[in-house]
Amino acid sequence: MYFVKTPWWLKKLYPQLIWNKDRNTKTIFLTFDDGPIPIVTPAVLKILKTYNAKATFFCIGDNIIKHPDIFLQLKADDHTIGNHTQNHLKGWATADNMYIDNFNKCQILTQTNLFRPPYGRIKRSQIIEIQNSKFKNQNLATKENEIQKSKNKNQTPTNILHQTETLNIPVNQSKIKNQKSQIIMWDVLSGDFDTTLKPEKCLKNVLKHTENGSIVVFHDSLKAWDRLHYVLPKALEYWHEKGFKFGLL
Ligand SMILES: [Zn+2]
Repeated sequence: MYFVKTPWWLKKLYPQLIWNKDRNTKTIFLTFDDGPIPIVTPAVLKILKTYNAKATFFCIGDNIIKHPDIFLQLKADDHTIGNHTQNHLKGWATADNMYIDNFNKCQILTQTNLFRPPYGRIKRSQIIEIQNSKFKNQNLATKENEIQKSKNKNQTPTNILHQTETLNIPVNQSKIKNQKSQIIMWDVLSGDFDTTLKPEKCLKNVLKHTENGSIVVFHDSLKAWDRLHYVLPKALEYWHEKGFKFGLL
């Protein structure tokens, strides 16, 4: 069971998390979780480009290591990157030190002040730790190491050297300098991951519940693609016609 529209009482229980943005501005904040992966993420990027829409991608560190070229494409297209842990851990089921360690591993790759807990499940103790962690200029050697490992593992013929150089550029650093991590939740959950949900119903849900300042969750995952490829272009078309802008977190 999940809420398409986040209920007011849940927001009240966790006021320290970000659930939506300014309700007086006609802007929607699109977010995509769980990538980057082949086929789906590039297809999402193509659809977004058609509508000149920018979005925030909460990436899994392990997927960045496996698909660095797609990660770089996200950045090249000027989308915003968020941390979604290295291995998509459930906060409620994970000891705090392990959770923070996994957050930090992903932080080395994403270099962001935006975090979204996988499944939206996070302990209060973990919230405090993450909100108190400031972005640090991470050790570049560690990053090179990670990319080198990925090169050895996948034997990809791509230009890893160039990718490593690019990954080493802390693109967002001026923006995130001295900023504490913000935990980004949502107020509209598309349910694109729900294999029992018809694409038409998924679209209807999303359009019905999205309003000024909404943070909308989609997934650039294989599981979600059956619904996403139907919903995303239609939703973008609808919002575009209604005069909404697409904002970055
Ligand atoms: Zn996720």
